[in-house]
Amino acid sequence: MQLKFKDYKAILDIVEFIKNYNKKNIKIMEICGTHTMSIAKSGIRSILPNNIKLISGPGCPVCVTAITRIDEILSLVQNKDIIITTFGDMLKVPGSVDRMSLSTLKSMGAKVEIVYSAMDALTIAEKNPDYEVVFLGIGFETTAPGTAIAIKEAKAKNIKNFSVFSLHKFVEPALRALLNSDDFDVDAFICPGHVSAILGIKGFEFLAKEYKKPSVITGFEPEDIIVAIYKIIMQFEKNFAIIENEYLRVVTYEGNKIAQDVMNEVFEPVDDIWRGIGLIPQSGMGIRDCYSEYDTVKKFNIKLDYQEKTTACKCGEVIKGMMEPNECPLFAKICSPENPVGPCMVSSEGACAAYYKYLRV
Ligand code: SF4
Repeated sequence: MQLKFKDYKAILDIVEFIKNYNKKNIKIMEICGTHTMSIAKSGIRSILPNNIKLISGPGCPVCVTAITRIDEILSLVQNKDIIITTFGDMLKVPGSVDRMSLSTLKSMGAKVEIVYSAMDALTIAEKNPDYEVVFLGIGFETTAPGTAIAIKEAKAKNIKNFSVFSLHKFVEPALRALLNSDDFDVDAFICPGHVSAILGIKGFEFLAKEYKKPSVITGFEPEDIIVAIYKIIMQFEKNFAIIENEYLRVVTYEGNKIAQDVMNEVFEPVDDIWRGIGLIPQSGMGIRDCYSEYDTVKKFNIKLDYQEKTTACKCGEVIKGMMEPNECPLFAKICSPENPVGPCMVSSEGACAAYYKYLRV
């Protein structure tokens, strides 16, 4: 059954069905920070019966960035010849020492600029030829093509004072790492609409084909998510596992080939560390040798550490679906959006921030 978008009569029928569904216990993981926020904001959890559970996965790019990498960035920004450019969410993410962040270093005089895209960072480089401008490349397959275009543009214009610290990551290796771990306890997935727009349905087929997990790609309106939950329940009821696309208005089977091509031209898979998960082989996007002059790591000879650090923050457990944000001992006591201990409370897509804003009692 394919529902028409915003067919409210059908949506209300589905809500009734879900509310009264009591046959099977189903844990559903959403793997997109925008879904996390939409679920919290719309109160979808309040209509779920006890046997249906929604948990957040590694879908917030800032939240999965390793503390080790944050520390490396904080060291870099102390170079007086460097302007760090970044999305606003990264500003308050603390490193491992004294909750030091880009924001605190900026207040002490470090050059840190908020940008809305990698191209904005490139413009800053053009306007500041006496400085090295470093863009922190954050995000999954959704934002990586934009970074790749900026790198290509820098090369085409022969701009020498621009580089990218690539923290970009591929979604699939992380999901495989979780699915292959013994303590992972999730039955089904709501797949990310944005990443699916780039990778297409085929990018998430492995969830059902190889791991037998019912999965639905969907959009970000509450009704999109409700339909996805319904579709997942129906797969359990009919005893099959497939990937379904409920985001027909955006997602195709093949995805965005142009975006995939530019991303693959500039980036290649490299080993990388993820917060709370550790090293995942071939999960990071490294800048290919043909663009190495735009690779911050090579330009400034940074020796990347592949050992993740531990702190009191439980973001790792949260993004693995092992802990609800409000089960963290620091939640809303020591850790809040004004005074965050970890990135899940900083990011506008973080699970802890979503709980704090909409589900705190
Ligand atoms: Fe980390 Fe704060 Fe979330 Fe606890 S509440 S997991 S300390 S971000």
